[in-house]
Amino acid sequence: MPSVITQLVMGYTRGDVADEAMTAWLREVCLKGLSYEDTRELTQAMVDSGETVDLSGISGFKADKHSTGGVGDKTTLVVAPLAAACGVKIAKMSGRALGHTGGTLDKLEAIPGFRVDLSRQKFIDQVKEIGVAIVSQSDQLVPADKLIYALRDKTDTVASLPLIASSVMSKKIAAGAEYVVLDIKAGNGAFMPDTTTARRLADVCVRLGRDAGLAVTALITDMDQPLGLAIGNRLEVREAINVLAGQGPTDVIELSSAIVALMVARAGLAPSVTKARALVDDTLAAGAGLRKFGELIAAQGGDARVLDNPDSLMEASGRASALATAGGYVIGFSTAEIGRLVKKGEGLTLLAKIGTVVAPGDALAKIYAPNEAAAEIIARRLAPLIAIGPRCPRRRPLVLDRAGTAP
Ligand code: URA
Repeated sequence: MPSVITQLVMGYTRGDVADEAMTAWLREVCLKGLSYEDTRELTQAMVDSGETVDLSGISGFKADKHSTGGVGDKTTLVVAPLAAACGVKIAKMSGRALGHTGGTLDKLEAIPGFRVDLSRQKFIDQVKEIGVAIVSQSDQLVPADKLIYALRDKTDTVASLPLIASSVMSKKIAAGAEYVVLDIKAGNGAFMPDTTTARRLADVCVRLGRDAGLAVTALITDMDQPLGLAIGNRLEVREAINVLAGQGPTDVIELSSAIVALMVARAGLAPSVTKARALVDDTLAAGAGLRKFGELIAAQGGDARVLDNPDSLMEASGRASALATAGGYVIGFSTAEIGRLVKKGEGLTLLAKIGTVVAPGDALAKIYAPNEAAAEIIARRLAPLIAIGPRCPRRRPLVLDRAGTAP
């Protein structure tokens, strides 16, 4: 006889359990939490709700990554081609925006023609041919998560440790890779507000992976300010291209390279993480990651000419600047609110991050929107979300902690 949790998940996936009943249970979990055993059962029930992916036909080491979501997080766009250029196979299923956080699929679809709905066979064949594919999670893969994720987004039941852990790990277990690097975000732009709760989430995810036979390393990373400078789908693709061309913001380069180095070391392509990092740096500097991104775009129907002219992605005609109303140091961002401010077709580029010195009237960010009035509204709303103070704040490291398998 299946347990209550398994019956609930099966019933909701079949359509026998109403949204109201599921929402009531999700609210209770948000309030009271779940034991590890129940979280594992929930994860397994979600895996069992659909098919799992068999990647055994693909030779080589197959790695995956997952971010719990942040603002300006475009690392998958860098990690996937860069890891493939280093010799790691990346068969990646990604998600859409959730709450205030962006989604990799939405970003990729900003590239003209790019298709994320490949058949399973085409997905596997593409990884065999070029080493990388990024597609949408198919309806057959963890359908329970697809349905529950959408309901959580509507009912404000996203920020719960067991719900996030089971959502992330069910997809990773079903997706068939041998090794996963999790990027668990901590801060005011993340679902986990501080390093302690992010670490608890990391430990649960690592344990769920281990119990399912999947090796997992979790990096706990700073989300008290947006990652990189660009926010908004088109601008984020442009920034990822710049990173792969060796010019992007250092935090995006740092995080992406750290994730790829873990994969390269675990794959046995380098004898240590330090040596793996040197290989990653050389691969990036040689432009191999950028060329691989071009192959990925072309293979999925996109217009790879964006790599030669990334500015072509910024077709928004309305522009405005958010201005500093005081002088001093930038001391903080209301990161989640900034994520909520930027809608489809809009974007912004930060000109200051924590620690930057600004004078009154300096531009803090450039806004892009379909028309000038819309850009001005965003600029006015953005300025108060960037705090300025008299003293230089202490910088948080980008990688705050680490859990799980050492490669
Ligand atoms: N990412 C996921 O895949 N699921 C969540 O619940 C939150 C972030």
